[in-house]
This record gives sequence, structure tokens and C-alpha cells, in this order.
Amino acid sequence: MLADLVKLMRSGPVCILTGAGCSTESGIPDYRGPGSKPRNPIQHRDFVEKDATRRRYWARSAIGWPRMASAKPNAAHDAIARLESAGHLTGLITQNVDRLHHKAGSRDVLELHGALAEVRCLDCNVCESRDDLQARMLELNPNLRDLDVETAPDGDAELSSSIIHEFRVPSCLVCGGVLKPDVVFFGGSVPRERVLAAFAMLGRASALVVVGSSLTVFSGYRFVLRAKERGIPVAIVNRGETRGDPHATLRIDGRVGEVLPALAHAVC
Ligand SMILES: [Zn+2]
Repeated sequence: MLADLVKLMRSGPVCILTGAGCSTESGIPDYRGPGSKPRNPIQHRDFVEKDATRRRYWARSAIGWPRMASAKPNAAHDAIARLESAGHLTGLITQNVDRLHHKAGSRDVLELHGALAEVRCLDCNVCESRDDLQARMLELNPNLRDLDVETAPDGDAELSSSIIHEFRVPSCLVCGGVLKPDVVFFGGSVPRERVLAAFAMLGRASALVVVGSSLTVFSGYRFVLRAKERGIPVAIVNRGETRGDPHATLRIDGRVGEVLPALAHAVC
């Protein structure tokens, strides 16, 4: 019930954890939500070890990036930013890599899995913006500029194997090393200091509110376990079941783009 969530918000600042379901209404796919298709996510080890995996990734990414970069925050992102401005949050932990919380005006955002907006060199660790890399990729691959690509519904480009084969992958401007989007792929791990910073946000909170996450991945689920250890309530707003349901004090099965604005309206 929304009234219970309102009561929870009023009893002290909470820590919010968001997942893919928070961004689906912005046109960014949730592969684990109701009706979504399973697919093969990039594996960290494949990306680091295989030239072919990186070439395929960057070719698809070069085509899909404009759509990702132009995605707009939705009503749920806006409501969370309002809750923060009104002093209802100790912080926001997100599993999303789309940077939409920042675009909505949230300030204290911990990007648990990093962000696609940044690219890091695996050799010298220098950071480059994804927008700058996009310009370099189009310079190296001028045929992509006017390629008439059917973008798949998820925004990832489906490219023919010849385009992928010929794609020239840019390297680090500083050392010529291998570039990787600054996100945690499957099989990769969240840096320890980032987890500790997230635990600190949760440590100051009177409750954990999960928004739009099925909590399938342990990196998000661990915050539910932590909240339980600390004896603070866990509220979950998500369409469909989640792995955290057995531990939830309060559960709202609904669209985050409806529930969060209603919540913000009630408490702000
Ligand atoms: Zn480098």
C-alpha cells in the first residue's frame, strides 16, 4: 500500500536502490522484467581476453550510442530527485549504467556498476568520455556515419558480420592500451570501496527502498541482506516478483513511473 510507504518515508531518511525497471519507461530495456527476452550479456573475461568480443561490442555500441545518450529521465527518476531535494534520502544507489538519475537532478548517486558515459583504459587506467570516444570511432570508421542500420528494439544495433569484421577499434590515447566501458560486466566485480560507500549510505538510513529491481544479481540483493542484518525495514516497488520479496516489510507491485511520483507528491 502506498500509505504504508508514505509512513515509512516520514519516519526518517531512507536509502533508495534502483535497478533496470526504473529505466524501462525511458526506453532502456530490462532483460529480466516481465515479458523480456533472455539474451547473452557480455562477459567480463571475454571482453578482456578476446579481440573479437571487443570488436563486436564497440561496433554495436558505436551504432547504439546516440540512442542511449539521448534517453531522457522518466517520472520515477524525477520523483526520486524531488525526494532527495526534500531531504528524504541518505543517498541513492543505482545498478543502472545510463546516468539518467544525474540527468533528472539527483546529486548523491552511487553508480554501483559504473556508467557507460565513461571509458577506461585497462592498461593505464586513464578515463575518456564516451562522447569523445564516439567521435573517434566515427573518424576511424567513416562508413558508419551514414549506415542505414535497423536498430533492434533494445537500441543495440544488429550489424552484419562484415561490418563487425572491418570495424576498427580505437585504443587509449595516452598509452595505446585496451579501452573498456567503465561498467561492471557479468563476471566482473564491483570495486570494494564502492560497496563500502554504498553500505555507508545504507548505514545512515532508517529503511531501504528498492525501486525497479528484480534483485536477481547479488550485487544488488546484498543490500537487502544488509538491511535485514541491521534490522531496518525493506520496501520494494517493482512490477513482478523479486528475489528480495521474502525479506520485504512492504511490497508494492506496480509501475515505478506511477508509484514514485505519487509517493513524492505525498511527502514532499
Ligand atoms: Zn592507456
